[in-house]
Amino acid sequence: MASSIAIPRRVPLLLVAENVLLPGSSMRIPVRSIRNMTMVKSRLLGRNTLSSTVIGVIPKDPSKDDEDDELTALHSIGTAAVVVQITGTNWPRPAYTLLVTGLCRFKVESILQETPYPIAMVTQLDKLSDNDRDDMDENQELTALAENFRDQAAKLVEMLDISIPVVAKLKKMLENLPSQHLPDVCAAIVKASYTEKIQVLDAVDLTDRFKKALPLLMRQIEGLKLLQRARKDGKVEIVTRKEGSRPTNMRNLFRKLSTDLEEEDGDNESDDLDLEQKIKAANMPEQAHKASMKELKRLKKMPQHMPEHAMIRNYLELMVELPWSRQSKDALDILQARKDLDEDHYGLDKLKKRVLEYLAVRQLKNSLKGPILCFVGPPGVGKTSVGRSIASTLGREFHRIALGGVCDQSDIRGHRRTYIGSMPGRIIQGLKLVNTHNPVFLLDEIDKLSKSLHGDPAAALLEVLDPEQNNNFVDHYLNVPFDLSQVLFIATANNMSTIPPALLDRMELIQIPGYTQEEKVNIGVRHLMPKQLKEHGLGAEQIQIPEDSIKVLVSKYTREAGVRTLERRIAAICRAVAVRVAEGVSRARREKLEVTQGDKKNIPSEILSEKDSHEASTLAHPPEMPIVIDEAAIEDILGPPMYEREMSERLGQPGVAVGLAWTAMGGEIMFVEATRMEGEGKITLTGQLGDVMKESANLALNWVRANAKRLNMKSDLLDNTDLHIHFPAGAVGKDGPSAGVTIATVLVSLFSERCVRSDTAMTGEITLRGLVLPVGGIKEKVLSAHRAGIRRVIMPRRNEKDLQDIPSNILKDLSIVLASKLEDVLNAAFDSGFPSLLPSPQEVSKL
Ligand code: ADP
Repeated sequence: MASSIAIPRRVPLLLVAENVLLPGSSMRIPVRSIRNMTMVKSRLLGRNTLSSTVIGVIPKDPSKDDEDDELTALHSIGTAAVVVQITGTNWPRPAYTLLVTGLCRFKVESILQETPYPIAMVTQLDKLSDNDRDDMDENQELTALAENFRDQAAKLVEMLDISIPVVAKLKKMLENLPSQHLPDVCAAIVKASYTEKIQVLDAVDLTDRFKKALPLLMRQIEGLKLLQRARKDGKVEIVTRKEGSRPTNMRNLFRKLSTDLEEEDGDNESDDLDLEQKIKAANMPEQAHKASMKELKRLKKMPQHMPEHAMIRNYLELMVELPWSRQSKDALDILQARKDLDEDHYGLDKLKKRVLEYLAVRQLKNSLKGPILCFVGPPGVGKTSVGRSIASTLGREFHRIALGGVCDQSDIRGHRRTYIGSMPGRIIQGLKLVNTHNPVFLLDEIDKLSKSLHGDPAAALLEVLDPEQNNNFVDHYLNVPFDLSQVLFIATANNMSTIPPALLDRMELIQIPGYTQEEKVNIGVRHLMPKQLKEHGLGAEQIQIPEDSIKVLVSKYTREAGVRTLERRIAAICRAVAVRVAEGVSRARREKLEVTQGDKKNIPSEILSEKDSHEASTLAHPPEMPIVIDEAAIEDILGPPMYEREMSERLGQPGVAVGLAWTAMGGEIMFVEATRMEGEGKITLTGQLGDVMKESANLALNWVRANAKRLNMKSDLLDNTDLHIHFPAGAVGKDGPSAGVTIATVLVSLFSERCVRSDTAMTGEITLRGLVLPVGGIKEKVLSAHRAGIRRVIMPRRNEKDLQDIPSNILKDLSIVLASKLEDVLNAAFDSGFPSLLPSPQEVSKL
């Protein structure tokens, strides 16, 4: 283990007014104040890794007044501690007692938060490892002090009755304790006042600390000497109790120690034995086994209150739980896999075909070597759920590792065990969770990995995915290799262009562009609706959603590439119906009660059988009919349609056109707006545009200005005029050249005061000479136009080949206009075309 161990910089504080916790000692602290109670509830209760939470135990400053606010009366130095045990009750009112062990001193730099409980930024003052020994060897005064102190401590122990187990334990502990820990531990066990203990706490300098603690130790020895003398003289009566008991005052002296040590001691040895057996049973590879046995040896030797004790224990517990050799049986049957995939997912034919090929090849080769699959597509198209299906058809466990926002390589590879609370990385954590070493791991959103000061997580991931290296993957926390070669990795991404290139190289991309309206309706009817009904506990006798209503949901309440919002809308309907059904049930129950009670009044009780009363109530309530969700019911539950009238409303004035954009969320339609006002020719562009988009706005404007005459517009368009072009949604950054044709159309519409056709959307890059150049993402863009109910799409002629990727039923609904020049675009974008368009000066010169 490395030599420097650190506590976190931010620690929650526990305020203690009656006692002082010193590093290396244990103490019971009753929790009473609201602040402490909240801290315990939110930071400690319900955690199964108590020992990895570091808290700051901070005493009240004795010099400050009692009436002061708790926080202003805080002492500036405290003790970082781990909580070993929480005891207490929740009833009638919560009351807890914490058993804590002090680790080291810290200084409060600033209070970061006061309510609901204080959190402080702290600086660690003592080292947690044994490095101080070096200082001690060099400093003669210190060495002499330490030697003297150790002698005195030994003298104290000698004066006690060694037959008492706690004393024997104390003796052993003091003998083994490194000298720099002696003053704290001794000051904690001798009788001393609150202020004296604070003084020891404040002695950050080791020499000073020895000097402060020594008098306390000497006083205790003197006290014991006096006592022994008095006892010899017969002045003090020794109260003997049962055999093996100790004198009362000694009892007092060690009350704290005995409670702490005895309790901790209880199962200690049997626990170690238990761990040893588990290590043997875990079937680890040799290296891991050796490392575990070595750590176990250290654990056995280490006193329990040492912070490292908990760390080693946590480590060993993880080691024995990891699935070193446990695996689930692979059950790949290609025919069954095809059936399973079809059953779970509608459509996605290309993807399913590729997945089956992939699985078949892996089966024939009997190895997982080769590129890993990466599903690329907008959210909600089923990337995760296909991953889950693959796992279930293979009979393997499934685990999703969300990589969004991960910027620290130790997230993947773990933290070294140098500080309390260090953890293994996500891969090892995942393996512990699934408990087999051949699961399916879904690396979700691999395109959202980022770099930071703490190393590049992509590089760590590369090691995980490399079949040549991953049978020897070393997590920093484990520090021994784990074989990942049996794990089946699948990745997902929204945007191919932001996947780190080195990772891209390892992957085989399968694109999922998004669903058509028709596919969405089918997915809604076959998969999402049954799933949501089941989740809400509703059956066909309570609710019926006809296919037409799903169509309404798809067309008027969603406009996404995937089906996540659709699923949410269906869930909202189910919730509303569930409330009605539940209300109906409780009303019926209440009325049934009233009916039976009413009847009872009139009918002699001996005649009223249970059957009669049941019939009376069912008569009052005929069986409930299922609630049918038609369009009116949808509007009632979800409110008015969200996307119905938007198009014609927004395009009802000059200066607005619909562009088609490609985003990581799939294709999207985008309303581009322009307006002009009196001014001096200033141009404003808003909507978080990237440089390329700003340039294409300038290009479009200059083309329109250069061709104003041909377009039958006044020659200087910006004379006394300011121009503003806006791209919604304002909060989302946009870039790329493909809005060129849309901006040009918007400007022509604005200056010629003619409306753009409301059934038309467009995409294409332009040049200064008015040529229309090809753009990317045609399939996604056309699908999004279709979803939005658009019937005509203007696109670059050179993109014609991309049309073959688009399903024929979509193309059937659309009329596609292919443009090679801006004139073609304008001709198609306005109702009666732009017949007045004169030949351009260049064209005239060619003639
Ligand atoms: P992603 O991972 O692509 O963001 P999810 O896998 O979370 O999307 O899918 C969202 C929801 O849509 C899930 O409930 C999933 O089952 C459902 N879903 C998506 N595509 C299909 C499909 N083709 N057939 C059936 N259900 C689907």
